[in-house]
Amino acid sequence: MNMITCLNCNNDLILAIDVKNNDFKCKDCSEKYDLLFDKKVLKIMNKNHQLSFFINDLSNCDSKFSLKNVYEMYNKGYLDCVKMLNSKYNQSDNIWHLSVNKLKEKITQNINLKINTILNANTESYICSSCKANYSSNEALFNNFSCIMCLNQLVINNNLEEVEHLKENLILIEHNGFIPF
Ligand SMILES: [Zn+2]
Ligand SMILES: [Zn+2]
Repeated sequence: MNMITCLNCNNDLILAIDVKNNDFKCKDCSEKYDLLFDKKVLKIMNKNHQLSFFINDLSNCDSKFSLKNVYEMYNKGYLDCVKMLNSKYNQSDNIWHLSVNKLKEKITQNINLKINTILNANTESYICSSCKANYSSNEALFNNFSCIMCLNQLVINNNLEEVEHLKENLILIEHNGFIPF
């Protein structure tokens, strides 16, 4: 794995997240970063560099990085909750940590899982060679293997296109890193 490091201290990038104050910083050197969601893309920015992650299984991630996003990302294993002793009150505070490399690993795992699910599903279905409408094998048989919408021929849909697309995504994620903008 291509390790993503802090642009300031070069350590494995782990961001300490304080949503209330909209404050995101490297846990080691306190270098500040900006975090936001653009559609389903999590953008992590520092000065004129940007890192993006497409996360497709979060609800409500269209703009500001909110506490709701944090809870959901925590439940899905995308970020950690760390307990830190607060000496002033002699009690533990919860601190959110987003390890960028762990996030990358988790997204990779999820895509691999999806690929395996598709490859193991083996449920035969058909797709119109023209309009891409989907048919179960019974429906395809009933319609003499032609599309009821456009009358074109139906072909077996083995989802290989989707698998190829997911494999391309894996390569992109593997090479993901900060890029200047
Ligand atoms: Zn740092
Ligand atoms: Zn069709």
